[in-house]
Amino acid sequence: MSRIVDPKCKLCRREGIKLFLKGQRCFTEKCAVSRRDYPPGVHAQKRSKVTEYGVRLREKQKLKRIYGVGERQFRLYFQEAERLRGNTGENLMVLLERRLDNVLLAAGFALSRNHARQLINHGHVRVNGRKVDVCSYSVRPGDLVAPATRENTKKIVSEAIEVNKSQPVPAWVEVSGDTLTAKVVAVPRREDVPHVIQEQLIIELLSK
Ligand code: SF4
Repeated sequence: MSRIVDPKCKLCRREGIKLFLKGQRCFTEKCAVSRRDYPPGVHAQKRSKVTEYGVRLREKQKLKRIYGVGERQFRLYFQEAERLRGNTGENLMVLLERRLDNVLLAAGFALSRNHARQLINHGHVRVNGRKVDVCSYSVRPGDLVAPATRENTKKIVSEAIEVNKSQPVPAWVEVSGDTLTAKVVAVPRREDVPHVIQEQLIIELLSK
């Protein structure tokens, strides 16, 4: 599994928007985008006009970085989105949104996407009662996502829920704080995806 290891805030500053990669910190005034609203690098502020290709490339990079997906895996998502019926751009967004690590984050069970991935990789997550340690696992309506029954795992998830309690949970996930479960009640729609992305630009780039 490939992993993006660059400093997170640098990625946001490079894209010029908040990618929300550091959990609650992203909502505070410590956020690097709020404090330094220009790209990282000594000569970054002198960079010349962005080409049409550059605009499309940046949009793709933005989406990859939000979901923490490498280039190869992203291309596979694109191929799958093309194969499915309907609008390829919307299909792509929905496929990414259905990732198990994203569900943990959306449900408030993890402090950040990296934290969600760590919980999954270390075997702390159950889907319909069975261990799933693959972050890209694609959830379906009816799936029940829960932490392992170990006390330590439950404690980690309960603490995350407490920290995230002010964050809204999307309509396609039903969370029970008492039983520590998140039920996927529907396939997410494009309008459920909270990120500001022009997916059509990405499709134009990848369709060439
Ligand atoms: Fe991005 Fe969050 Fe860092 Fe802000 S705090 S720059 S949103 S990772």
